[in-house]
Amino acid sequence: MKRWARFSTFCLVPFCLLVVFPASAQRKTQSADAVVLHGKIYTLNAKQPWAEALAIRGDRIVAVGSDIDIANLQSKDTKVIDAKGRLVLPGFTDCHIHFIDGSFSLGRVNLEGAKDAADIQQRLREYGARHSGSDWVLGRGWNYAMFPTSLPDKKYLDEVFPNRPAFLEGYDGHTYWANSKALALAHITKDTPNPPNGIIVRDPKTGEATGALKEAAQSLVAAVIPKPTRGEKLAALRTGIHWANENGLARVHSAGGDFEEFDLYDELLRHGDLTLRFYISYFQNPPELRPQDISVIEDARKKYSGDWLSAGAVKFMVDGVIESHTASMLEPYSDDPSLQGKLFWDPDKYKSAIAELDKRNLQLFTHAIGDHGIRTALDAYENAQKLHHTSLHRPRIEHIESVSAADISRFGKLAVIASMQPLHSYPDDDTLDVWARNIGPDRASRAWVWKSIAKEGGQVAFGSDWPVVTLNPFKGLQTAVTRQTSEGLPKNGFIPSQRLSVAEAIRGYTLGAAFAGFREKTEGSLEPGKLADLIILSQNLFEVDSHKIDQTKVLTTVVGGRVVFQSQP
Ligand SMILES: [Zn+2]
Repeated sequence: MKRWARFSTFCLVPFCLLVVFPASAQRKTQSADAVVLHGKIYTLNAKQPWAEALAIRGDRIVAVGSDIDIANLQSKDTKVIDAKGRLVLPGFTDCHIHFIDGSFSLGRVNLEGAKDAADIQQRLREYGARHSGSDWVLGRGWNYAMFPTSLPDKKYLDEVFPNRPAFLEGYDGHTYWANSKALALAHITKDTPNPPNGIIVRDPKTGEATGALKEAAQSLVAAVIPKPTRGEKLAALRTGIHWANENGLARVHSAGGDFEEFDLYDELLRHGDLTLRFYISYFQNPPELRPQDISVIEDARKKYSGDWLSAGAVKFMVDGVIESHTASMLEPYSDDPSLQGKLFWDPDKYKSAIAELDKRNLQLFTHAIGDHGIRTALDAYENAQKLHHTSLHRPRIEHIESVSAADISRFGKLAVIASMQPLHSYPDDDTLDVWARNIGPDRASRAWVWKSIAKEGGQVAFGSDWPVVTLNPFKGLQTAVTRQTSEGLPKNGFIPSQRLSVAEAIRGYTLGAAFAGFREKTEGSLEPGKLADLIILSQNLFEVDSHKIDQTKVLTTVVGGRVVFQSQP
């Protein structure tokens, strides 16, 4: 790494041409630590978009070129990674993840893809048979379409677990489902008031809690679940990191839930077990920014600033989600005009918190899903820019599910990054029947408009929101390209004008994602001087049928020059 730096500075002197020979002679004597040969390398470097091979020294790429060029840098000690003609891409960045939650979810009940309540009960019985005892049954992944007439009811859980507490997170993390035992342990009765920003869903006749808990109401139950030990957390993180590497991730941006665990990540780093790069945001709760928040954020930024572990971002959440009518809309919901969704923040307090943190050059993430939530965030960012006379702080809006037509061009104009999760737009029943019905066809026509935002000069970055959906980026990539389900539905695509090319979608997970985290100088493309983070894939995304992109397997993941995942042959 140091040697490369010297070589590069050398070439910056005005007599560059004169030193080509000595420089290349010197290069020959410095063999690479590792080389990737025989690849179809899509570099994302506009000056050299495709290459066959690259060389790595330390944790950096030192050369990219033909097999012959790179073979010159090989010595007997050089590790050779034979890509065997496969597609090689920069390691992916996931711009929106809840990592420790996701890591724990790997060992819990998974309800993703269940058909209905009966199917859910079957999975729970199987889980109960494998994990006997009386401790909490935790899990996630049910969605609203699995309960067509209402939100899930405790009775389905009570039938399977009459004496064991069960608590299951909805796929979007905004609504939870508890059984009677869990409600009793949390002392939730018909007299329990709704907490701020939360709703205990009640039977209209009896007033009893039904078991569905919206938004912050889930914390009443969460508070009585025994906390995992430090050892359990570390074990879960190791599993999660391996899972991320296996899916081609080299970096994640944590959007909540991980800031309190910084020292766990630090421990993994000190033991050489961190094989995934982490940019971790501080979750700023309403109602206001307090001096102690600022000092915690600033201290973390000072302490963690490296390539592996860094702070410096603050996450806000101004609204909820469209499916449960908690996303804040400019006009009432179409299916129930008595609802419009409320902002979680007082707009003035939010605006002044944004201005205060922007002044300190911290990066801001705001979860905003409804058109009113999105506008509130754009207004606050615009205000901060005017106050501080700069548009270089790259504030971000997370999700952006239905935006007002008038606000699309503001992403480009205000240099606000659109951090979006393609798999959330997956056009299954939950999206087409629940999501689209709730806001009606006009607003649904501006669903996940990454193409329009990019066309109007906005920067787009992609992620998953794991564990809300899988962190497998190829499923998201396919959805961004096809705007269809794997079965090719709807036939013409869900708002097909927003389809991206394969190259554009890859950019969202690589260079676009690097830019969204101020890492584009060292990550996001494969070129000399950048970190050696790359993946070798089982199939060529540019050639395969776009409905089969999600079948892509990662064969090899290299992070910082080190092979951190290798598929079994
Ligand atoms: Zn999230």
